[in-house]
Amino acid sequence: MDKDLINDLASILPEGSITAVEEELVCYGSDATRVFARPDVVVRPTDADSIPEVMIVAARHGMPVVPRGAGTGLSGGCVPIKGGIVVSTERLNRIKEIDTIDLVAVVEPGVVTQDIHEAAEAEGLFYPPDPASFKACTIGGNVAENAGGLRGLKYGVTRDYVLSLKVALPGGGVMVAGGRTLKNVTGYDMARLFVGSEGTLGFILEAALKLIPKPETKAAFLTAYDTLEHASEAVVSIVRSGVTPSTLEIMDRVTLDAVEAYRNTGNEVRHGALLLVEVDGSDVEVRRQADALDAVLGRTAPAELRRATDLAEQAALWAARRSALSALARVSPSVILEDATVPRKQIPAMVRAIEGIAKKYDLKIGTFGHAGDGNLHPTIITDLRIADNRKRVEAAVSDIFDAALALGGTLSGEHGIGLAKSSFMERELGRSGVAVMRAVKDAIDPRGLMNPGKMFL
Ligand SMILES: Cc1cc2nc3c(=O)[nH]c(=O)nc-3n(C[C@H](O)[C@H](O)[C@H](O)COP(=O)(O)OP(=O)(O)OC[C@H]3O[C@@H](n4cnc5c(N)ncnc54)[C@H](O)[C@@H]3O)c2cc1C
Repeated sequence: MDKDLINDLASILPEGSITAVEEELVCYGSDATRVFARPDVVVRPTDADSIPEVMIVAARHGMPVVPRGAGTGLSGGCVPIKGGIVVSTERLNRIKEIDTIDLVAVVEPGVVTQDIHEAAEAEGLFYPPDPASFKACTIGGNVAENAGGLRGLKYGVTRDYVLSLKVALPGGGVMVAGGRTLKNVTGYDMARLFVGSEGTLGFILEAALKLIPKPETKAAFLTAYDTLEHASEAVVSIVRSGVTPSTLEIMDRVTLDAVEAYRNTGNEVRHGALLLVEVDGSDVEVRRQADALDAVLGRTAPAELRRATDLAEQAALWAARRSALSALARVSPSVILEDATVPRKQIPAMVRAIEGIAKKYDLKIGTFGHAGDGNLHPTIITDLRIADNRKRVEAAVSDIFDAALALGGTLSGEHGIGLAKSSFMERELGRSGVAVMRAVKDAIDPRGLMNPGKMFL
C-alpha cells in the first residue's frame, strides 16, 4: 500500500471515502466480463467537485485513474488492468434537475438509468435509452460506452440524448462540452467525443440529457418462427414496411431454452426463434401502426403470431427478453457475449455466418439481440477452463468479427472495445484510423493515466 498516496487522497476526501482493504478492493476489480485485476486503492467520493482534485493527486503519483459506475460493462472497461485508483460513482447519484420546460435532466454520473426513467416519467416525460441492464447500470457508464438498448431502433442511443457533459480532465482541469440548447455548433462537438470514450479521456462529473414527451401507449407482438434465419428475414420485412417499431428483438432456440429454464414459467418452447416487437406513440398512431404491423408480420409466415392483450403480458415479454444474458450465463461456467452489428439487410447473412461458425468450431452459441438495429449478441456458452475450448472460442470470436466486417458491420454496436476487443481495432479502422484516435488520446491524456490499457493495445 502506498501510504503517501492514501494520505494525499485523505487530505481531499471525507472520511470513509477511501478503501485499501484487500477484501473490499476485490469488489472493484471486475465487471460483467468477469476479468479481474486488483486496484491499488478505491475512492468513493460524495461530491463530484472533489474528483478533479483526485486527478491532481493521481498525476502527482503517476497513478492511473479508472472510472467505475455499476460494473455491468461487457468489455472490461472498468477493470483496473494496470492498477491505480478506481473512482467509483456509487455515491454520486443525485438527479439535480428535471426541467419540464426545456425538457432537460441534469444528473450526476452515478445515477442508475432506471431512476432517470422514473424521474422523467413522473413528469410525463421520457428518457428513451434503455440498456437491458437499466436497473443497475449508471448514466456515467452509459455515456462512456454510448449504451444502446431495446429502444434504439426508433429512439437511438445514449449519444442522441447527451446535450452537455461536465468532465474532469487528466491533471485536474475541468471542461463543459456542449450546452443546454438543442442547437450548438460552437467549435468541435466535444460532447460527442467524450460519449463512447470508455473513460479513456476524462471523468464525467455531470450530464445534461435531452428528454422527450412520454408516448401515450404501446402495443406488443410476439411472433415465432421455425428457424432463426426465417426470423431474421422477417426483421428485414418489418424494417422495409415503413413501420418503425420502438423495439424489435430476436431470440434463438438456445436462448429461449435458457430463459425458460431460468424463469420457469411452464411454457414449453416449441419454436426455433422468436421476435418481440413493440410500437408506441399516441393512441391513434399505435392503433394504426399495430394494424400495419399485424399485416406485415402475417405476411412473414410465422409459426405463431400473438398480440399481448394487456400491460402485464407486455411486461412479461420484455422481462423474458431482458433476462436472456443472465439466463445464458447459468448454462455453463463461461459465457462470451459478442456485440457484432451489421447493416439491417445483412442480418440474415450474419445469422447464417454465426450458425456456420458454431458448426465449424463445434460450439454452442445462443443468439439474441436488438435485431431491428442490426445488433446481434451471439453468446458462446462453454467452459474456458479447458484449454482446447479456449482456442476454439478465440478462433470463433475472430471469425464472428471478420464476418461482421465483411458484411459492412462493426466490432461493437453498444458494449464498447475495452479490454475485450482492443486487439481487433485495426481490422475495422485500419492503421491510420487507430493512429488518429491514439493522437486524440495523447493530446488530452499525454501521460496515459486515464483508464490505461483500454481500447488501444
Ligand atoms: C445483463 C446485462 C445486459 C446488458 N444490456 C445492455 C444493453 O442492452 N445495451 C447496452 O448498451 N449495454 C448493455 N449492457 C452493458 C452495460 O450495462 C453497459 O455498457 C452500461 O453502460 C455500463 O454501465 P456501468 O455503470 O455498469 O459502467 P461500468 O461497467 O462501471 O463502466 C463502463 C465503462 O464506463 C466508464 N465509466 C463509468 N463511469 C464513468 C464516468 N463517470 N466517467 C468516465 N467514464 C466512466 C468505465 O471506466 C468503463 O470504461 C448489459 C450488461 C449486462 C450485465
